[in-house]
Amino acid sequence: MAEQTFPTGTLMAGKRGLIMGVANKNSIAWAIAQQLAAQGAEMAFTYQGDKLLRRVKPLAESVGSDTLVDCDVTNDDQMEAAFKTIEDKWGKIDFLVHAIAFAGKDQLAGSFIEQTTREGFKSALDISAYSFVDAARRASNIMNDGGAMITLTYLGSERVIPNYNVMGVAKAALEASTRYIAADLGPRQIRVNAISAGPIKTLAAAGIGSGRHMFRFNKAASAMQDNTDPMGVAGAALYLLSDLGLSCTGETHHVDGGFHAIGMPQEGPLRESLGE
Ligand code: NAP
Repeated sequence: MAEQTFPTGTLMAGKRGLIMGVANKNSIAWAIAQQLAAQGAEMAFTYQGDKLLRRVKPLAESVGSDTLVDCDVTNDDQMEAAFKTIEDKWGKIDFLVHAIAFAGKDQLAGSFIEQTTREGFKSALDISAYSFVDAARRASNIMNDGGAMITLTYLGSERVIPNYNVMGVAKAALEASTRYIAADLGPRQIRVNAISAGPIKTLAAAGIGSGRHMFRFNKAASAMQDNTDPMGVAGAALYLLSDLGLSCTGETHHVDGGFHAIGMPQEGPLRESLGE
């Protein structure tokens, strides 16, 4: 992501939270973290393995964080240890950002019914959907009443996107989980929402077959005829995680230039490409 200046303020002043899913400076979670930091949030980060620590540590330090925890979300012991570390440090937290997904590359190209294996299905659902249920439960145990959580999803949960395949099924499970978690935690005034972002160039997006076409098509067919700006996703995260988002829970909020709203593109490049 190009260097951008995030709006500063005090919307997150006094709030502490955990960011899960920064792999590098292009990660959506990193755009969100920078926006939250610019509004006064204090954050801890999880990472996966020493290779990622080298990348994530300088990013975390640049927003004043010295709390980094190694955590593979499929490993119960590491999940337990990660949340214990946060509890030991702060006692309570106010927010959670879950920006984690994975499916094997072989699952993300070609025919859905031909390519999807039992193991591929289980692993995609485990890492990309169950991990939010697990993290939300653990986070809620140490969360102040009135806290907030978000996860990241994609339109492939609602409609068929070529090659997105089993990840679309995992995102549908993630969005349904968001609603169930919101119902469980609502009485404590903890709000739980999903942001459905349009395609953004990250490591995860690079794993999807015909990714380049996805960006070109999104740009041509979206209402705004543009690709999704990570700043917009970070802004939505700020709204949902701060007190601006009061009374909003169980929602899947699209930040995709209006791509989800379009049935048939208006006049423009896509129609012209069809010779109209
Ligand atoms: P990213 O930078 O590659 O982030 C994905 C993160 O998931 C990485 O930090 C990755 O760590 C982590 N992860 C994968 N398996 C894990 C595991 N077992 N344990 C712990 N962490 C694990 O890509 P991103 O695009 O920002 O993705 C963040 C979220 O946004 C994902 O849920 C993605 O589906 C969603 N999203 C992305 C787009 C897009 O176009 N980029 C659009 C809509 C929604 P490792 O690198 O160590 O595996």
